[in-house]
Amino acid sequence: MLVLGIETTCDETAAAVVERKADGTGHILSNVVLSQVDEHAVFGGVVPEIAARAHVEAIDVIIDEAMREAGTTYDDLDGIAAAAGPGLIGGVIVGLTTAKAIALVKKVPLIAINHLEAHALTARLTDNTAFPYLLFLASGGHTQLVAVLGVGEYVRLGTTQDDAIGEAFDKTAKLLGLGYPGGPQVERQAFSGNKTRFALPRPMQHRKDADFSFSGLKTALRLEAERVAPLSPQDIADLCASFQEAVVDVVHDRLRSGLKLFRARFGEPAALVAAGGVAANQAVRGALTRVAMETGTPLAVPPLKLCTDNGAMIAWAGIERLALGLTDTMAFAPRARWPLDAGAAAQGALTR
Ligand code: ATP
Ligand code: FE
Ligand code: MG
Repeated sequence: MLVLGIETTCDETAAAVVERKADGTGHILSNVVLSQVDEHAVFGGVVPEIAARAHVEAIDVIIDEAMREAGTTYDDLDGIAAAAGPGLIGGVIVGLTTAKAIALVKKVPLIAINHLEAHALTARLTDNTAFPYLLFLASGGHTQLVAVLGVGEYVRLGTTQDDAIGEAFDKTAKLLGLGYPGGPQVERQAFSGNKTRFALPRPMQHRKDADFSFSGLKTALRLEAERVAPLSPQDIADLCASFQEAVVDVVHDRLRSGLKLFRARFGEPAALVAAGGVAANQAVRGALTRVAMETGTPLAVPPLKLCTDNGAMIAWAGIERLALGLTDTMAFAPRARWPLDAGAAAQGALTR
């Protein structure tokens, strides 16, 4: 089974061709990602209108390149998958409309993919992970613990009450004048910083639920930064290290809690799975490893390139849905908001 996947929900224009062999394993034949990061950097964040225009300009070339690299023709494809939300609506329209056009002309099925579902299923492409598993989705827009029970079967066990974890990294970087995107910058600074210098709060720690909160941490960091200003390079490194250490403690505690909730409701998970850009952070990966070892749970963290937004995860989610006969019609409308638990499960019923 061969599927082309298209991703345009945020600031990456991406396309990929993925194949599923008869034995069920997935193979990435091409995975082309064009990041718009430079176009948005001057504004310190993603500007929706600029993003949409950049997707329009790039999408044809990126798809062309993905097809060429894969060495396939449109006639070889069994389906066209596109992220249909959630995300910046201008970008989503570009990707979904392009997918519809190809599907119509080539008479192949369209599969409208929930971007979060694609993140959730990536571990099955990279690690062949079996259901059920506990997903830690840690990105710029989301911080969730999700029980992944099957394709289209997701139960959200925890979420953030305010900022997303990646957003917290980005805001910390902005506050300290480190530029955009902030996560990698904060991590780099933290390497040379003292993580015990600033006593920052660990929001939500020791609660029985599996929810997160990062706005109090962000405020505490700002107050500390104001207290020691003007900031020396060492102050900045120490603030980053102390911030990252607080995040790591929170992730460790919340994942332990999430695993407990998972076991109580669904039994033993096949794995603890990470997805989203923040999973690139070495210290956060360390916390995941610690939780996995302490609880005897296998850990699956996809390679960095598949943790952040990409077309291969969309193509793979398309393969998973197509294999179950879940395809969509040309009437499928792009969605700015689309919760994973409610929406993805209902999608099949809506469109079959
Ligand atoms: P969503 O998938 O929720 O729509 P998104 O697409 O913006 O959001 P990703 O592309 O998965 O999210 O990840 C981007 C986020 O990951 C940014 O907030 C970025 O700062 C963060 N990030 C990337 N690398 C690191 C790192 N090394 N340490 C911490 N955070 C990081
Ligand atoms: Fe994403
Ligand atoms: Mg992104």
